Amino acid sequence: MRYISSRGDAPALSFDEVLLTGLALDGGLYVPEKWPRFDAAALRDMASLSYVEQVVRLTHPFVGKAIPEAAYADLVVDSYSAFDHDPVAPLVDLGGGIHLMELFHGPTLAFKDYALQLVGRLFNHVLESRGERVTILGATSGDTGSAAISGCVACPLVDVFMLHPKGRVSEVQRRQMTTVDAPNVFNIAIDDDFDCCQDLVKTLFNDTAFRNDMRLSAVNSINWARIMAQTVYYFSAALSLGAPEHEVSFAVPTGNFGNVYAGYAARCMGLPIKRLIIGSNHNDILTRFFDSGTMEMHEVTPSLSPSMDIQVSSNFERLLFDLYNRDGKRVTAAMAKFRESGRLKLDLECYRTAYELFSACCLDDEGTLAAIAQEYKNTGILLDPHSAIGVYAARQLGGDATAEGTPVVALATAHHAKFPEAVEEAIGMPPQIPEPLAGLAGFKERFQVLPADVDAVAAYVREHAAVMAQTARGRGGESEGKTP
Ligand SMILES: *Cc1c(COP(=O)(O)O)cnc(C)c1O
Repeated sequence: MRYISSRGDAPALSFDEVLLTGLALDGGLYVPEKWPRFDAAALRDMASLSYVEQVVRLTHPFVGKAIPEAAYADLVVDSYSAFDHDPVAPLVDLGGGIHLMELFHGPTLAFKDYALQLVGRLFNHVLESRGERVTILGATSGDTGSAAISGCVACPLVDVFMLHPKGRVSEVQRRQMTTVDAPNVFNIAIDDDFDCCQDLVKTLFNDTAFRNDMRLSAVNSINWARIMAQTVYYFSAALSLGAPEHEVSFAVPTGNFGNVYAGYAARCMGLPIKRLIIGSNHNDILTRFFDSGTMEMHEVTPSLSPSMDIQVSSNFERLLFDLYNRDGKRVTAAMAKFRESGRLKLDLECYRTAYELFSACCLDDEGTLAAIAQEYKNTGILLDPHSAIGVYAARQLGGDATAEGTPVVALATAHHAKFPEAVEEAIGMPPQIPEPLAGLAGFKERFQVLPADVDAVAAYVREHAAVMAQTARGRGGESEGKTP
């Protein structure tokens, strides 16, 4: 499988190259040159497979020659062994044709585990065969950091440096990162806010010498392998609700457009998805876009669903590439104009194409709390603020679909206990905290406090990455490639 850039002006890459590369050199995002297709017979055949078997069947075509199927299957089995539920992505009937897909059965209780457990192991595997190591550097306000750290714990060739704003991450989320006891994980608490953490990371990535020396890499949501892994739960849900004989719709609380783009990818692979319904919080750039055909940047303000507080949805460019019939020059021009003016307007034909598949609605914090309370009252199920927005979107916009008997699957992207304050505010009592989270309080926390100073962060990363590399060499060349 080859991957091409959405801006049409960067070299095509193989899977292992795309895995280790973030943005393409032309500033675009990589997408597969051709979608692997699964016809009705292939889908029927897959319905009885386990989740892990579905992952291998559906995603190995994306990996291709980069990793032989048997070795890939081992990595997949290992990735999902840390999940505490069988099936891995269970469905719960909420009534009214709406089904909740629980994507919080991984180690950090949020859907990012479904991709990042695999991505960490893929990194390690590819690096091992190349005799290389990398340094993952990132900034987090919560969810992404813990999922990325957890995904890399078992990956000795990957060092993870994760910056979080000191005292500004929820206690649960901080402990999920800082209680991880692994020599390759380095938590850095920056004495400033999240924007500052992000600026520090950006500055270090823009420092070419540092980036090359440290072999900096990222596991952010534009990484192709994350999208690939996320396509699987769309298949698993639809197959258990009657696909390929019946269509299924999905409602997705989204920020960076990564998760819902994976649904789009599943459809391109042959899954009969009728509609993709998007839920956003008051940072509603996507809802405004799908309502009007014009994307327009606004300020971001904090919400109860922080993982969806974004200004620009980076993965949207992958959809735009297809809407523009894969014309990279057109995408380049549109993105340049968007950066300059803060506006991107689709022509009518493209907008129609998008509108046939996607619809969107937004919900502010007050509405989110009401939605949590309402679902709890009606179904006894507690939702976290992100998932509540997805369920609300399903109930608002799934109507057309359900009236014709098309089920809607709403994606629950996090366990409610990760957001206990919001849940308590919604239902008037604190939720029970499940053991994996409650138990964290007993573990020692490890993190380094640093000032908001790029030289201090650079020096810390340099020093500790060097020690890790040296230890690996001392152990007999784990980082020098496989000895025959
Ligand atoms: C990251 C995240 C989202 C948003 O996912 P995107 O891929 O950016 O759309 C939604 N909910 C939760 C709980 C998350 O952690």
